[in-house]
Amino acid sequence: MKMLIGGEWKAAASGREMEVVNPATWETVGTVPSGGHEDAGAAVDAAGEAFAPWADLPPVERGKVLFRTAVLVREETERLAATLVAEQGKPLREATDEVRGFAHVLEYYAGLSSSLYGESINTKAYGRIIVERRPLGVCAGIIPWNMPVMIAGWKIGPALTAGNTMVLKPASTTPLTTLAIGDLFLKAGLPAGVLNIVTGPGETLGEALVTHPVVRKVSFTGEIGTGRHVAETAAQTMKHVTLELGGSDPMIVCDDADLAVAAAGAAGGRFYNCGQTCTAVKRVYVFSDVADRFRELLVEKTRAITVGDGMEKGVRMGPLNNAAGLERIETVVEDVRDEAEVLVGGKRPEGKGFFYEPTLITGLPVDAPSLREEVFGPVLPVVEVEDLDEAVAAANGTRYGLGASIWTKDLGRAERGCRDLEAGIVWVNQHLKAPPETPFGGVKWSGTGRENGPHALERYTEEKALLIRS
Ligand code: NDP
Repeated sequence: MKMLIGGEWKAAASGREMEVVNPATWETVGTVPSGGHEDAGAAVDAAGEAFAPWADLPPVERGKVLFRTAVLVREETERLAATLVAEQGKPLREATDEVRGFAHVLEYYAGLSSSLYGESINTKAYGRIIVERRPLGVCAGIIPWNMPVMIAGWKIGPALTAGNTMVLKPASTTPLTTLAIGDLFLKAGLPAGVLNIVTGPGETLGEALVTHPVVRKVSFTGEIGTGRHVAETAAQTMKHVTLELGGSDPMIVCDDADLAVAAAGAAGGRFYNCGQTCTAVKRVYVFSDVADRFRELLVEKTRAITVGDGMEKGVRMGPLNNAAGLERIETVVEDVRDEAEVLVGGKRPEGKGFFYEPTLITGLPVDAPSLREEVFGPVLPVVEVEDLDEAVAAANGTRYGLGASIWTKDLGRAERGCRDLEAGIVWVNQHLKAPPETPFGGVKWSGTGRENGPHALERYTEEKALLIRS
């Protein structure tokens, strides 16, 4: 496939290409341009040219294009989902949900398109003060490989609805579905240059977008180290920045919780997408008096997960997306083997693919250093705590603050969790779901800014004040 720049499909200026590999089979499933500085510049130029006419359209007309794209995406769900499985590795059912979720995000923002109002204040002393909301201009969206389609929607939806144009850079291991969706935007009548999709290495192509003086906003989702570098670099040219970084979401299971529901929630919340979800359940803190029963139920749920190629029927968990991720997971488990007990899994199966067994670990002390870091794969530590005070203190004891959940039937405990857990999202008796209405993002080192909801729409605009006197 080629890159989408100014409504046309282009090779990299250097002529270089890179291969996309199926993480389940190690077969090459596509080739895309390996773009660099020059290609980033061409894409920003195209987005710059397209900006004024797109921003001048009545908002509802912009919304109609998003809505037509969503219709086409829904019609093409099967093909897009199969492409997503081939490049990312997730089971077909999850890929289908993700493609539908992308369409849902576009529909949501299409619906919000004409709701972006300004403000007006009448004063005797200064006349009428009007506050307009203006689009920012050219925005760059940089996305990771774990939920490449959904996260693309979280950036494209609000950016384009608010009247901006965009250059999107998918992760190098998962560019194919995003490019296929770019084609559907063109078919739906999106003017050339409003959305450009460039492919290539983050350190060169991504860096070129972040340093480009014409780009007014960078919305980045990825790892904390990269995010910090992006923020520092973007500050050199005073860009707006939204950062959605990693998480180490805690799940607190109280002694009055429905343990069967909580065990299903823990297994679903951890092993969905092979554990590579930013808001996955990454640590469970369970009250000691129900810990044995909870572990039994969770072991049962975990053993029932079928691992394999995401296109095979009945598969519930695919491989990790890439070799580096697999190596990190192997190291995490080896590093705790001496102090913890591996209840289920703990190794990679033989054969091809970046597979790792769904793994449960128990016996770690509540202050184990390994619990403070994000583990991006199918490994779940279950840690015992005495009470809610200890659980909340442990849950908050990391630099992360993306999501957190508390499982209880007691309203007082639920309220305590909502109030005291340091996170951008707190769930009660559930974990993971985040429909487009949910402002999504973290506190502390998990990032700045929010995606989704009307809040994200505002973050793709800036206020302009007009003081008018007759
Ligand atoms: P990375 O930070 O490695 O990569 C993310 C994106 O940034 C990729 O497109 C990458 O390109 C690009 N990139 C890399 N270096 C630069 C650079 N110097 N300048 C600009 N762009 C660059 O993250 P991963 O892809 O490994 O994603 C996994 C991480 O993302 C996890 O920590 C996870 O928790 C987090 N995440 C957070 C979410 C949230 O909403 N909070 C949601 C999803 C994931 P390339 O692929 O070419 O290297």
